[in-house]
Amino acid sequence: MDFSLTDQQKLIRDTVRQFMEAEVRPLVKDLEREEKFPLELLKKIADMGCCGMLMPEEWGGPGLDTVSYVLMIEEVARVYAAMSTALGVTNSAVQMPLLQFGSDAQKRKYLKRLAVGEILGSFCLTDAAAGSDAAGIQATAKPDGDIYRLNGAKTWVTNGSVAGVYIIFAKTNPEAGAKGITAFLVEPTFKGFKIGRHEDKMGQRSSPSVEILMNDCEVPAANRLGEEGLGLKIALTALDGGRIGIAAQAVGLAQGALDESIKYAKQRRAFGKSISEFQAIQWMIADMQTELEAGRGLTYYAAWLKDSGKQMGAAASKAKLYASEMANRVVYKAVQIHGSVGYSRETDVERMYRDARVITIYEGTSEVQRMIIARDLLQ
Ligand SMILES: Cc1cc2nc3c(=O)[nH]c(=O)nc-3n(C[C@H](O)[C@H](O)[C@H](O)COP(=O)(O)OP(=O)(O)OC[C@H]3O[C@@H](n4cnc5c(N)ncnc54)[C@H](O)[C@@H]3O)c2cc1C
Repeated sequence: MDFSLTDQQKLIRDTVRQFMEAEVRPLVKDLEREEKFPLELLKKIADMGCCGMLMPEEWGGPGLDTVSYVLMIEEVARVYAAMSTALGVTNSAVQMPLLQFGSDAQKRKYLKRLAVGEILGSFCLTDAAAGSDAAGIQATAKPDGDIYRLNGAKTWVTNGSVAGVYIIFAKTNPEAGAKGITAFLVEPTFKGFKIGRHEDKMGQRSSPSVEILMNDCEVPAANRLGEEGLGLKIALTALDGGRIGIAAQAVGLAQGALDESIKYAKQRRAFGKSISEFQAIQWMIADMQTELEAGRGLTYYAAWLKDSGKQMGAAASKAKLYASEMANRVVYKAVQIHGSVGYSRETDVERMYRDARVITIYEGTSEVQRMIIARDLLQ
């Protein structure tokens, strides 16, 4: 068994870490406070190959492995969770299904531009009526000559106000339930496409989550992704892989909170001592680190399974379930170690506490992950 990273993987981790520390960290507080999407920073990280890391060179990416991708997401999330969310959606939830199910013409038109970060992607599965129960979505798509007409609304669309292409899931055959869903590649300039309201969120406030409104939205038939009825399979395949990235986000965020906690514990004094000398603080830090390493292990293992071409659905769910819940326990302790200072908007751990909360919800809630893990064991 070999747990070591390759030289290339270490280089990617260190390069992204250096970029996040030097160019991003000084800006995060203001971007989050002003709810400003970090477009310029994404352009810079795109130049480092991080907007299409998993894409083969033929389609404009560096063709890196999932472990490298996980290391990148982890390093970004250690400093700025909202930026890692934007990267996770465009890299994985959008580009992977396009690579797997797209036609050559679709890849030429969209994948190359996504892979170099010229445009960002959005993944639109959730409706107001259905989140976990993806087969219950209500958006519809009806063929009309050489177009489809899409109607309905998508909610909580990450990157929704800044994307150049959207994968939208809609029902082409509502009677067929899960088998009646189809995926479409939609551009924001298509007739009948509109960006609706922005969610006013607890955390990750600079990552836009918006409503997408489709009113007889005209989508060329050539923009159907895969066959009619294949939509749910496309969505669930994308989410399986996406969960590894979300687990990496949780691990990175937890690492950031632990780093801040260690720094603060060494500085802060109480009862004539550094608080790091109190066993209560030491035990919190020891538990944070232990749980973090467990989450990291599950995440790297799921990434390794994916790179080895092995079944990884349940492993990705275990990584996402454990790491997302672990990150919430870690940020809770991080705020506790900071005392009143941790409750102030001036500190990073206050933001991390809010940013972590959503990780047990998106790309499948913890309850959905447990369903997947149990199904795998019981079938
Ligand atoms: C910040 C943010 C960004 C997001 N980005 C995107 C995006 O880019 N694209 C996209 O399509 N969606 C996105 N989402 C939506 C997200 O994926 C859904 O919120 C999530 O899947 C849960 O769906 P829901 O909110 O409708 O909750 P519901 O499905 O209504 O669930 C409510 C509660 O019931 C539980 N529950 C539901 N079914 C079961 C069951 N069978 N057994 C046990 N418990 C169950 C859930 O676990 C949860 O606790 C985002 C959400 C957020 C908050």
